[in-house]
Amino acid sequence: FPLVGNLIGEDHVNYVLMYNMLTGIRIGVSRCQAKIKRPLTDEDFTAKHKFSFDIIGNELTPSAKYDFKFKDYAPWVFRSLREDYFHLDPADYLLSLTSKYILSELGSPGKSGSFFYFSRDYRFIIKTIHHREHKFLLRVLKDYYTHVSTNPHTLISRFYGLHRVKLPRGRKIHFVIMNNLFPPHKDIHETYDLKGSTVGRLWRAKERRKEKKKSSPVLKDLNWINAHHKLELGPEKRALLTEQLRRDKEFLKKISVMDYSLLVGIHNMQRGNRDNVRRRTLKVFEPAIPKELARSVSAVGGYTSTPEAIAMRRAMRSSDPKALSLPSHSGADNRLNFIFYQDEGGLRATDEENREEATIYYLGVIDILTPWSTLKRVENFWKGLSADRHKISPVPPSEYAERFFKFMKAIMKDGEGDPQEFV
Ligand code: ATP
Ligand code: CA
Ligand code: CA
Repeated sequence: FPLVGNLIGEDHVNYVLMYNMLTGIRIGVSRCQAKIKRPLTDEDFTAKHKFSFDIIGNELTPSAKYDFKFKDYAPWVFRSLREDYFHLDPADYLLSLTSKYILSELGSPGKSGSFFYFSRDYRFIIKTIHHREHKFLLRVLKDYYTHVSTNPHTLISRFYGLHRVKLPRGRKIHFVIMNNLFPPHKDIHETYDLKGSTVGRLWRAKERRKEKKKSSPVLKDLNWINAHHKLELGPEKRALLTEQLRRDKEFLKKISVMDYSLLVGIHNMQRGNRDNVRRRTLKVFEPAIPKELARSVSAVGGYTSTPEAIAMRRAMRSSDPKALSLPSHSGADNRLNFIFYQDEGGLRATDEENREEATIYYLGVIDILTPWSTLKRVENFWKGLSADRHKISPVPPSEYAERFFKFMKAIMKDGEGDPQEFV
């Protein structure tokens, strides 16, 4: 597992931030959740709910350890996304995040300066985002909602919440909560972050920073191409994955973003979980959990089968694109409801005759909040002077989307095209 971070204890520099984020989520989300569900209105997409916490508390917000302000953005929209489309059990969601005040911090793996935190059970990721990404997500929230509601099997990041914490000295931290693509109970033996761009897209062993020695690296496009890797999927899975990626890239084109990637985690079943480091848990702070919440906690880890999931598997075998529109059915975070996450939380490799191979893929399109801005245009200009303008990462959204899609087809076994063309 490349992403096991450092647990945040009380002496950690970001402990207060973590405490505030989790307290805000706990109070904000349960407040919205306590109300009777109603249909969404246009105003819900721009709504902001404010909370003010202090050490004394009042009738609206209980006392907290620190003074801070919390904003919950479009709470009804995210509630609907979580419940109606992502099939998260509300109590389960809150408990995973806040039953124990424990997060582990991955630090800042990308260049952007965002920080990543994992919930205690590794199911959720909190990513701090830049103010402009935050504004952008709000601007496209309606399109995102429409896409998710018409594409229940989308590979695009699942956003479960958008929030802001404001610390006493005025520092504002925006963050999203999203799905961890990688399962808590399986080792990921190789990770790739693929864009379809090849300039500078090579991970080199010497880049490995000291503190990250033990974790496995996130490899890039050129590593994939040089290793002659292929996504091994039988005809039906390949057709469905291609079709879903086509729909997803059309959406990303429509909202005019670029720089996103397909994250690919590979679990090798023969290697199994031998390398699995037993995850430490740390008791930091345990707020009281209402009984009705506690009762509905489901076990972490394994996924159980449902009649709907079985029906979906059946529909899938016909590789009919209609399978992609089959509504997924509810159940607590039941990944079995999602075509591409139904095999141990991922997608099992198969050969041309649909015989299962000893590999599970964990796939998703991540980092989708970068619009084609002036900054990116400038980057395109400069990088384009010294390299092929069509192979650099910053290219206009429609070119980016088509290249991305073409590359993904080319890396599938017996798929269309040749990855060498991208070099
Ligand atoms: P940059 O803009 O420099 O690419 P970023 O800070 O926006 O970086 P991301 O590209 O979103 O970061 O993610 C960085 C890495 O974190 C990914 O390559 C991946 O390893 C991990 N990661 C991000 N999102 C997820 C997710 N949903 N599930 C699992 N791992 C993730
Ligand atoms: Ca990225
Ligand atoms: Ca980014």
